[in-house]
Amino acid sequence: MTKSDLKKFKEELEKTKTDLEASLNTFAKKDPTLKGDWDSKFPEYSREDPNVNLEEEADAVTEYLTRLPVEHSYELRLKAISEALGRIKRGTYGNCSGCEAKIPQKRLEAYPEADLCLKCKK
Ligand SMILES: [Zn+2]
Repeated sequence: MTKSDLKKFKEELEKTKTDLEASLNTFAKKDPTLKGDWDSKFPEYSREDPNVNLEEEADAVTEYLTRLPVEHSYELRLKAISEALGRIKRGTYGNCSGCEAKIPQKRLEAYPEADLCLKCKK
């Protein structure tokens, strides 16, 4: 892998990271006590508010529940990306963390945060 390839992957990873964080920010907030953890915002209601009816409240809860798996998959992806950026820093990016073989560049292009070659992935 050349230096410019590495730079390309780094930029790609950083861009994806920013995009994911921006998407997460729309429905979750960063958990300040746990690094890399996000919490979906739970709808807040004032019981006194006469404009809130039960149906709306139920919809909001349903929406919250459908977001949880999305939040989880984003978190996992962000974690993988941070680890990949760490490997770039340490100069081990593109090496399989299972067998230490080089991960084919085609695979990295499809999946820049990959840390296993296809053989180890199985
Ligand atoms: Zn491997």
